[in-house]
Amino acid sequence: MTLRVIAIDGPAASGKSSTAAAVARRLGWAHLDSGALYRAITLAALDNVGEQGAGSGEQWSAVRIVALAEELPVRLVLVDEVFRPEVAGVDVEQAIRSERVTHRVSGLAAIPEVRHWVNVRQREAVLGHPGGVVVDGRDIGTVVFPDAPLKVFLTASPEERARRRLAQAGEGAAGQIDPERLRRETEALAARDRADATRRVAPLRAAADAVRLDTTRLSLDDQVGRVVALARQRFPG
Ligand code: C5P
Repeated sequence: MTLRVIAIDGPAASGKSSTAAAVARRLGWAHLDSGALYRAITLAALDNVGEQGAGSGEQWSAVRIVALAEELPVRLVLVDEVFRPEVAGVDVEQAIRSERVTHRVSGLAAIPEVRHWVNVRQREAVLGHPGGVVVDGRDIGTVVFPDAPLKVFLTASPEERARRRLAQAGEGAAGQIDPERLRRETEALAARDRADATRRVAPLRAAADAVRLDTTRLSLDDQVGRVVALARQRFPG
């Protein structure tokens, strides 16, 4: 049987999650944002292990973090065809978007035991779901679902990604953003991309058979339309 998974990977703020969510809605599939799981574990670690132990990936004890994720637990809950992150029974979709989590998440995502734990949770969620699932992240097409029939790798220039992120955070319409603020955000995104692309385990990269889509000059509607068209070819009927 064909695996009903669409893998959408790409760097930070490339529009993966917005695209994946809209594609899932258009197809009547579920959506799983794998970054949300890494963020939920980071939030759990910051709240329970504390900032002290959170200097870098290496300083956090892998065993302790995974035990914490099991015990609290950190999990994905399907609500209206969206897998939402929960920590100790509380929905954390908003809390995981804080700067404090964003700043720490790449360090935690570099820990092999944490990646293994997250990958098991993702595969359970997808294989236990009766319908198709659109999954977005950094290593979905390369590691988590290498057999996905459709893999898309989204890119956009770092400055465009920083502009979108700031506009989304309500910092002025695109074009009216303070240049210094834009420069700092572009640098922060580039630093996270470097950390994600150079780590030893499952670095950010496009699968050889991924369709690459540069969205710098595309609207969200255009991106979604292109992925939906590809999906209709790859998953006929
Ligand atoms: O997608 P988002 O920016 O929310 O992901 C947060 C972080 O989680 C990334 O910067 C990356 O370090 C990690 N991540 C990952 N592999 C994935 C998804 C996210 O390493 N599949």
